[in-house]
Amino acid sequence: MTYDAIVFDNDGVLTEITDWEVLRGAARDAFSHFDVDPSDEDLSRVLSSVTPEGLEAMCARHGLDTADFWYRRDTNYSTVQRREVREGRKPMYDDAEVVRDLDVPLGIVSSNQHATIEYILDHYDLREQFETYYGRRPTIEDVRRKKPNPHFVERALADIGTENALFVGDSETDVEAAHAAGVDSVFLRREHRADDDLSVDPTYEFETLDPLTDLV
Ligand SMILES: [Mg+2]
Repeated sequence: MTYDAIVFDNDGVLTEITDWEVLRGAARDAFSHFDVDPSDEDLSRVLSSVTPEGLEAMCARHGLDTADFWYRRDTNYSTVQRREVREGRKPMYDDAEVVRDLDVPLGIVSSNQHATIEYILDHYDLREQFETYYGRRPTIEDVRRKKPNPHFVERALADIGTENALFVGDSETDVEAAHAAGVDSVFLRREHRADDDLSVDPTYEFETLDPLTDLV
């Protein structure tokens, strides 16, 4: 099987994942901005795997406006992650250099902030390599649209103009979003995913991005 396009997740695929403590600090700063001392449960609601319902319940408990709080949390996340990239703590994986050689249209669909993705593309001089790319805007609406919702994968495929595409990610939600959008998937089992059990079946499972050159 060969494909006419490849769409990538970013974190854990093209660039290394962000240090957990850095994100935790950014989340804490969002609470501090609104003079709230968060409990561990409050923090867990906003650190990752965020849902609009969980966010709304947490904000209601503290009398916070959900949209305002989320905007602050997400822009904090982007600020600290751009700093991590700039200071060399969120490098590209060596094998991700393959995107400079793949001779089909490429896209990115990330659940990171769109501002973070744009910064990464500029910092690593990758903007020319990608025909389309989506991160999330700092809105509740885009929390609803993040993977496993196929919304942004479908938009990327429409931009590229093909349905014969492969989606490459390192999370179960990537595989789910790909299949919901009707395309094949790669689960990339890098070191940080060595022990993960998937409840979905990806089309392929690779340990590096090297095999992609034979699939286009
Ligand atoms: Mg990822």
